Amino acid sequence: MSRIIKEEKRLVVPENVTIPFIEGDGVGKEITSVCLAVVDAAVNAAYKGKRQIKWKEVLAGEKAFKYTGKWLPNETMQAFKEYIVGLKGPLTTPVGGGIRSLNVALRQELDLYVCLRPVRWFKGVESPLKNPQDVDMYIFRENTEDIYAGIEWEQGSDEAKKFLTFLVNEMRVTKVRFPDTSGFGVKPVSIEGTERLVRAAIRYAIKHKLPSVTLVHKGNIMKFTEGGFKKWGYEMADREFAGETFSMNRYNALVKEQGKAVADAAKEEAVKQGKVIVNDVIADAFLQNTLLHPKDYSVVATLNLNGDYISDQLAAMVGGIGIAPGANINYDTGHAIFEATHGTAPDIAGQNKANPSSIILSAVMMLEYLGWKEAGELITSAMECCFSQGLATDDLARLMPDGKSLSTSSFRDVLIQQINCESKK
Ligand code: NAD
Repeated sequence: MSRIIKEEKRLVVPENVTIPFIEGDGVGKEITSVCLAVVDAAVNAAYKGKRQIKWKEVLAGEKAFKYTGKWLPNETMQAFKEYIVGLKGPLTTPVGGGIRSLNVALRQELDLYVCLRPVRWFKGVESPLKNPQDVDMYIFRENTEDIYAGIEWEQGSDEAKKFLTFLVNEMRVTKVRFPDTSGFGVKPVSIEGTERLVRAAIRYAIKHKLPSVTLVHKGNIMKFTEGGFKKWGYEMADREFAGETFSMNRYNALVKEQGKAVADAAKEEAVKQGKVIVNDVIADAFLQNTLLHPKDYSVVATLNLNGDYISDQLAAMVGGIGIAPGANINYDTGHAIFEATHGTAPDIAGQNKANPSSIILSAVMMLEYLGWKEAGELITSAMECCFSQGLATDDLARLMPDGKSLSTSSFRDVLIQQINCESKK
């Protein structure tokens, strides 16, 4: 039996586990094969044959279209459902009416409500920050609501006219500045959607002994959606994690009831006891603060659109998209897809120069998710060692003072060599 099983509170992972993977389009072919080789080397070095991954290729994107006439065959979706955890290279978004983005289709079908992006700096990698070593954050971006729900009507369409009539006649809305030439979008944010995202972020902070969870929102402007996110997030934290967290909601209540000195003392005591501090910040201030005081933030929970901007800015602060890992996860069913966060990079595809670090570090997240931490740690320390010596693909090496630009396959070779060295330490 090589399939992962989800029990109520944990994943049961067999020693010989089957993991489906999508190779991906463009640079996907180059980086995914490198990633599989690196992960195999690390698993082998860490467990000496006691554990093994059986990779099962499933088709999506251009390769799927070429062989099956479908961009996302049912068998692929079925494999991700059945095997629970999978890996994915970047996919081209097919151009043409009526075709959903393949990434969106996978996330929606499996209800992968968390987009998790850890952001850290590797010594040796060029950064625009003075102290990039202070960046160590985990972004929990909501993946199913907000603008992601895609509820919009095009300017001039019958639907947009109908929606405007509804707004004006039924809802008595008079604030649309140019009613006849507007397109419209709806931004749904729910209690359940907020709670499951914030719950996952808090559990992650508790499990990894991280100091804080920050709710990032624009509740000052969008009171009932972004403001709701903040309110429901705090309420859930206070209700479900009262013993393990201290929220600024409770702090503010204490200030009102017993004064600031008592509230400050309670917060200080919570920090001493290692409780997770749950606080919040407005999204624009957050973006500024991450550049000025990145140390202030650890786990971040946010809605979809904010999360989109935040993930890319933070990735740029530590070396760019070639190195940023990510995963889409449903912590209730266990379903998770670990993926390269960049696109298919058509401008460098087939040239053996793409950086495979994003998908490799996503696979490290996968190994941790499976409970195979030792193998993941070998890869991370091998990568730390390579970057600190200036050994990297051209996108990173050309910016390093002593950088040595390696091809994708040469980078694979030095990384595997280093993994084997690390395992003997
Ligand atoms: P892109 O991420 O493919 O490329 C942007 C720039 O970053 C390019 O200059 C590229 O050379 C560089 N780059 C990206 N990955 C790199 C890597 N691993 N190593 C070195 N350099 C790298 O974004 P794009 O050009 O806007 O999109 C191309 C295609 O990818 C589109 O079809 C888009 O829809 C798709 N896309 C897919 C995903 C995904 O599957 N998750 C994400 C983003 C874009």
